[in-house]
Amino acid sequence: MERGGVLLVHTSFRAVRPVAGGPDGLIAALLMALGSEGTLVMPCWSGNRMELFDPSTTPADRDLGTTAEHLRRDSRTVRGRHRFAFAALGPKAEEVVGDSICFPPHGPVSAVGRVRDLGGQILLLGCGQSENTTIHLAELEAGVTYRRLKRCVLSFEGAPFILDYAENDHCCDGFVLVDDWMRDRSRQLEGTVGGAQARLMRSHELVTLVTDRLKVEPECFLHDPDAGCVQCDEARAGAIACYSYHTSNGP
Ligand SMILES: [Zn+2]
Repeated sequence: MERGGVLLVHTSFRAVRPVAGGPDGLIAALLMALGSEGTLVMPCWSGNRMELFDPSTTPADRDLGTTAEHLRRDSRTVRGRHRFAFAALGPKAEEVVGDSICFPPHGPVSAVGRVRDLGGQILLLGCGQSENTTIHLAELEAGVTYRRLKRCVLSFEGAPFILDYAENDHCCDGFVLVDDWMRDRSRQLEGTVGGAQARLMRSHELVTLVTDRLKVEPECFLHDPDAGCVQCDEARAGAIACYSYHTSNGP
């Protein structure tokens, strides 16, 4: 990884362990590798969309792993102020996680967008491409139209309300395709860290490559209609007429 850079980490501590010091020891090791000028970023959103989100008390989704929760609890960490929050520790933390909420959640003005804009890297440590949230950014920038309807509770001036929205979400099994695309172009470093397989890539290279592939085959990440995948079927059925984020592409 790049010393002094921005590093977005998705990790399963169970896959990496044993690590001296547990999840805090893993965070310390990542920070040491990044150096004092580096910024460590992890997804840190809420697991329950129907409960009000409080950035200072709401735990990270258990699916994000124990390391993300340990990073959240670190007094030096900055956490985004909305329910799709990321957490970051380092000099660029506020710049990465400070955006307001956006829908769908992982667009250009989100933490994954900022990591890309800042020339950051992505480390998948003990998890695969299906956990790689930045691929959702590429979906949006490619203008995919598949969507699943989602619901969450937000608050406005202290009063809770329910918001229905459409998100480019599906089972994400198809993200495994990205491994071959990245390997074919030598854009992904792979190795072993502890007991875990590790993949390291540049965010902007990932987004560019995936966006180009999606423009040719927009539904390549979705299971075929006869595969019986409820989530992918929902996404396909929920397709909306939408504009690409690249305004130059037009409607
Ligand atoms: Zn599927």
